[in-house]
Amino acid sequence: MVIESIPKAAGFIYGIIAFAALAWLWYSGRFTRRRAVPFLAASVFFGFLVFAPVFPYQFQALVLRDAAALGSPLPMAIAGLLAFIGLTLVFGRIVCGQVCPAGAVQEFMYLVPVKKRGRAESRVPTAVRAGVFVVFLAAGLGLSVNLLALMGLPAFFNLAVASVSFFVFLGIVLLSAVVYRPFCRYVCPYGALLAPAASKAVYRIRRTEACIGCGKCERACPTGAANPSAGAGECYLCGRCTDACPVDGALVYTRAKREG
Ligand code: SF4
Ligand code: SF4
Repeated sequence: MVIESIPKAAGFIYGIIAFAALAWLWYSGRFTRRRAVPFLAASVFFGFLVFAPVFPYQFQALVLRDAAALGSPLPMAIAGLLAFIGLTLVFGRIVCGQVCPAGAVQEFMYLVPVKKRGRAESRVPTAVRAGVFVVFLAAGLGLSVNLLALMGLPAFFNLAVASVSFFVFLGIVLLSAVVYRPFCRYVCPYGALLAPAASKAVYRIRRTEACIGCGKCERACPTGAANPSAGAGECYLCGRCTDACPVDGALVYTRAKREG
């Protein structure tokens, strides 16, 4: 369904606007999962319409120095991807939370009411992610192999149902009904860069002295990031913890260290 005549820049302009709006919602304390739904829907729409801003594939195209797939000159793509890493250092993984179409489509699938698996495994994916990232770089830089194409990321958003790879990514999307964001947490090379950036983010969800220790946020969190001992690297700013918290002001998105 991707319409090649529409410039990919349209997707990136949307991405910048969506990022700013979501950052404002978090900053102003107005973010809720319900308010995130239109952004998730718009992101999936842009994924199928222009295949942008599909950040992992842009990164893959950059590694392969494929200007045609990038839809922009290489320096501009480098600047764009670095800019979003910089924004993640300030605001956390808003890109992954609601802006990236690959993340958004998995986020929607996780809403399917089936029994969930693999919660609170935040440390395991970190080790796996590092290994996968090395394989990704070696394949791209050393062998010019487009691993994400083999996994069907472009075939999926192009609805290329005649391609075997379409069904590979479709399988990942279906898996995300029971495992939270398997592509983001185990595979995505751009996410592997955003996670360490988010772990140092200036703004993040923090507990305050108002916390009553009920544990509802930790039980609601699909990555284990709501645990006080976990970093913010695997926090996708999905809003499950803040929605689940029964105490106003116990979980706040802030830069100040106000933990109780
Ligand atoms: S981890 Fe990768 S695929 Fe997932 S939302 Fe972030 S950039 Fe997109
Ligand atoms: S539920 Fe977990 S992943 Fe979602 S915003 Fe809260 S800490 Fe982050």
